Amino acid sequence: MILPKGKELSPLQLAEVTAVVAEFGCRIQPIIGAVRSIYAIVGDERDELMINRLEGLAYVDRVDRIQSPFKLMDARSDLARHMIRIGGVTLGRELFVIAGQCTIDPKNPNYFYETAAAVKEAGAHALRGGVWKPRSNPYSFQGDDKSLDILMEASRRTGLPVDAEVMDEHQLRLALDAGVHTLQVGARNALNYSLLQQIGRAIAGRDTAVLLKRGLHMGPIAEFVSAAEYIVSFGNPNVILCPRGTAPTLDGYRSHPDESIVPLLKERTWAPVVVDPSHSVGRASYVPAAALAAIAYGADGLCIESHVAPSHGLGDDPKQAVTPEVLKELIGKARQLWTLVRG
Ligand code: PEP
Ligand code: MN
Repeated sequence: MILPKGKELSPLQLAEVTAVVAEFGCRIQPIIGAVRSIYAIVGDERDELMINRLEGLAYVDRVDRIQSPFKLMDARSDLARHMIRIGGVTLGRELFVIAGQCTIDPKNPNYFYETAAAVKEAGAHALRGGVWKPRSNPYSFQGDDKSLDILMEASRRTGLPVDAEVMDEHQLRLALDAGVHTLQVGARNALNYSLLQQIGRAIAGRDTAVLLKRGLHMGPIAEFVSAAEYIVSFGNPNVILCPRGTAPTLDGYRSHPDESIVPLLKERTWAPVVVDPSHSVGRASYVPAAALAAIAYGADGLCIESHVAPSHGLGDDPKQAVTPEVLKELIGKARQLWTLVRG
């Protein structure tokens, strides 16, 4: 739908926009009003280049799209009935919880094995463990390929599927070969389109899932959903959206909590939404309230950092990991709230 700056387009201007949309297989249907006229684009109006060309015309005020740019992620797409199942839970049908350490310590694997058993006992359905870490400081511990064996051993011991972040093709290959079930795309890489494409290509035809974090600097919802569309466009629709707080931070918290976008995401897309309150607020003491807020907003699940001995952990664990005892209480409350909200 083209809205001109003036009351209506001149015959020359109408001829120009008609020619532009015709190049993309569309036509123009003018709707002449008493005060203002608008020009409907009839046809598939999703081509970004067509919109850019129209918006670039000096006499065009704006172009509003009626069609969703997300062919696959849109709530009305054919995929809308797709269900994702992980760790015995069909997302959306019952509360889904991923929990575990921010970072696996390759020198002290027992912490991770103990955490894995404890988060399972607390009610988690999947285990998270950072093998490779995106650290702001180049001198901080960056992770270690060896931690992948620890992650998979914990998976074997507990029977839980595992989630780990991958940041490049080498890590992606190692993770898939080892049998990591859920690949995490972190907040720093959520706009890394070549990584999203590599992941999409690599998981096509497999039952692997992707936990796509919301980027630190993502604004419009469309940016988040488009990142998911990149992955799904290769054929595997198992993408879970994970709000985790954005920048700039809310003073006192690690990020700006964004669980309130859950209803918006649920309106625009069919994808399950699993909120990460740990990176959002960044302190263990704030995590339970933020997690419950996410459930109140309609989240399908939670991704929570938990460690049997947070002060001995690496990465974010000393600050933001909750103990498995806190996790257990939190999951109990979240289940009650889930029932109340979904009634
Ligand atoms: C993490 O999950 O430990 C992590 C680094 O997350 P994010 O990408 O959301 O910062
Ligand atoms: Mn972390």
